Amino acid sequence: MESSAPVPFPHLFTPLRLGAVTLPNRVVMGSMHIGLEDRPGQLPKLAAFYAERAAHGVGLIITGGFAPNRTGWLLPFAGKLTSAREADRHRVITTAVHDAGGRIALQILHAGRYAYHPFGVSASRTRSPITPFPARGMTGGEIRGTIDDFARSAELARRAGYDGVEIMGSEGYLINQFLAARTNRRTDEWGGDPARRRRFAVEIVRRVRAAVGDDFLVIYRMSLLDLVPGGQTFADVTALAAEIEAAGVTMINTGIGWHESRVPTIVTSVPRAAFSWATAALGRHVTVPVIASNRINMPEVAEEILARGDADLVSMARPFLADPEWVDKARQARSEEINTCIACNQACLDHAFARKRATCLVNPRAAYETELRLAPARRPLRIAVVGAGPAGLAAATTAAVRGHTVDLFEAAGVIGGQFQLARRIPGKEEFAETIRYFTRRLEITGVKLHLNHRVTAAELLDAGYDDIVLATGVAPRIPDIPGIDRPNVHGYAEVITGQVDIGRRIAVIGAGGIGVDVTTLLTHGGVRPQPVADWLREWGVADPAEHPGGLTGAQPPAPAREVYLLQRKRSQIGAGLGKTTGWVHRATLRHRGVHQLTGVRYHRIDQAGLHISVDGRDRVLDVDDIVVCAGQLPQRELHAELSAAGMSVHLAGGAAVAAELDAKRAIAEGTRLAARI
Ligand code: FAD
Ligand code: NAP
Ligand code: SF4
Repeated sequence: MESSAPVPFPHLFTPLRLGAVTLPNRVVMGSMHIGLEDRPGQLPKLAAFYAERAAHGVGLIITGGFAPNRTGWLLPFAGKLTSAREADRHRVITTAVHDAGGRIALQILHAGRYAYHPFGVSASRTRSPITPFPARGMTGGEIRGTIDDFARSAELARRAGYDGVEIMGSEGYLINQFLAARTNRRTDEWGGDPARRRRFAVEIVRRVRAAVGDDFLVIYRMSLLDLVPGGQTFADVTALAAEIEAAGVTMINTGIGWHESRVPTIVTSVPRAAFSWATAALGRHVTVPVIASNRINMPEVAEEILARGDADLVSMARPFLADPEWVDKARQARSEEINTCIACNQACLDHAFARKRATCLVNPRAAYETELRLAPARRPLRIAVVGAGPAGLAAATTAAVRGHTVDLFEAAGVIGGQFQLARRIPGKEEFAETIRYFTRRLEITGVKLHLNHRVTAAELLDAGYDDIVLATGVAPRIPDIPGIDRPNVHGYAEVITGQVDIGRRIAVIGAGGIGVDVTTLLTHGGVRPQPVADWLREWGVADPAEHPGGLTGAQPPAPAREVYLLQRKRSQIGAGLGKTTGWVHRATLRHRGVHQLTGVRYHRIDQAGLHISVDGRDRVLDVDDIVVCAGQLPQRELHAELSAAGMSVHLAGGAAVAAELDAKRAIAEGTRLAARI
């Protein structure tokens, strides 16, 4: 008998029949606002972005949110679907996805009080803590009009060739605002008790289903845990699920937390699949398929959720920015080739909040498919890349893909550069995935890797390369403080790698990204990586059957050390961190009782400790050890010698500019540079 290879992820790759549409697998690409939705001229780029993912086997794609009317805009002039003309413009998207063999649903999103414009409306007059504009309470006529608008958008989505719609009812947007007592203080038929608060959502589903007919997907995204005070109880959630099922939804997608929630739900320190238990609880109350979401990024995690019966499908959004080929790689048992989303938010959500086009830190081609092309090299060259940090790895593998012959030199015994440090920070374990990805990528692209090889200019010149990329990174800055050379003063790399024993009371000089990370490491108590139950307790997430909104008080564990985190600037510590992640780091520092001092001047270090002054008042911090995290300087001593010899030399990443360097810039520079050579 012929033996056939076992299917690697049997649950993930079980097709699912949903009326007229059959999904080939259980993978949904969740809704993401890329920034290409809002201008008609950008829709062809958006189409290329979706089509690439469809071609690699995503079961169902859900678009970013389109508003059903102007008041529902997230931003002024955001994408909306209100007319036949707008619908016809979407044909470029639906045709591209269908031609690539995929299926796509349009998300209808009304921002409610999250609107970033002065015309926002909500269930009642309120202002969200994350927007400057108060929202007006809707009249009964406006509510009925908005329900009509949802139905009209759905009808137009059908006209545009979509396979379905997703009604956005989670994350604290308008429908969610009607559902929660926190934001719905009405006393008419649209508020007052949970049944009347549900009416808006249920009417929308009923009217959308009536508008599109039976053979069209109607997905409702439901907030399982609001994670805000005054959020829904679990009884409210299950009652809504039963009513929208009766009103005609095909599937229920799930969302966790409102945007204003002070519990992180998708950042890298949230354990993988941390909320699938909540989807499992919902699934017991409905017969339609349910979709799990939040911090699912690898096939093994997705398969486990499905195998346990927590959900019928999984939704992943950012992982498809990181790797358009995710589904094909999973199906072909090539998980180790997946470029994993490390949940950093740096190039996706942080860009969206800054109104820049979203892309991906580990994949700068995301949303630039038509602009950043990796065409075969016109003339294959012999290229040396020096440094196997993020910039060098990106440059070497991109150059090799284009047909160049590449030697990659790395002074250390491992690749990854500073990612070898980042991955050791509690809550940043995902950074190891990027190192794993590039390890395999070097093999596949045929880059010749030379580890433990601190290459010299003479060697490079002797070898006669056509081109050289210097990606030699950075060296830590050592501030000029008397006593900085004492034995109890350490660099961050030695501390992170555990090369030095460190006491109980610590001062950290410098509160940038690395100072905050080192403080997180030094204060972390308990097991690593943090088990889901410990994480939920630390952030005060509880069973919504007992606590409305699934929220109770945070119970952080006792810190492992007492840490003073210092900076000279007067601004808030962590102010320079990412928009969508900085608050999580600052909350963690508060949980751990870290002493945060700003406006510090450093005087000297001696046996009494670290002598500083703050606002003109002298202090001595009586600490056991001092860790220096005072930024970095470029490391590029090879550059002058190679240039003087007339070599074609390029700099990338920290070797080019150390100030405000991050991995997003390092990888983008390495990739873009190698795309040009
Ligand atoms: P590096 O990563 O410094 O790599 C340079 C490499 O060159 C090194 O491996 C070095 O050994 C090698 N090298 C140097 N000279 C030679 C030579 N002559 N011959 C051979 N090899 C040589 N960034 C983010 O964006 N987000 C984060 O959350 C984040 N967290 C961080 C946490 C920590 C604890 C640290 C330390 C850094 C973090 N960073 C983060 C910063 C990020 O890691 C760096 O921006 C990025 O690694 C810079 O990449 P690079 O390739 O330019 O340099
Ligand atoms: P950084 O963010 O530039 O911070 C350097 C810190 O050192 C600042 O707090 C600065 O504050 C202080 N400093 C600078 N010169 C000093 C001097 N001469 N004496 C004393 N203190 C001095 O750099 P970093 O923390 O080394 O991080 C490097 C890069 O990695 C960053 O650009 C960051 O983007 C990236 N990173 C990002 C994350 C993330 O979560 N996104 C995490 C880690 C690292 P004062 O000048 O006010 O004292
Ligand atoms: Fe994931 Fe970071 Fe890429 Fe966003 S930028 S998709 S969070 S790896």
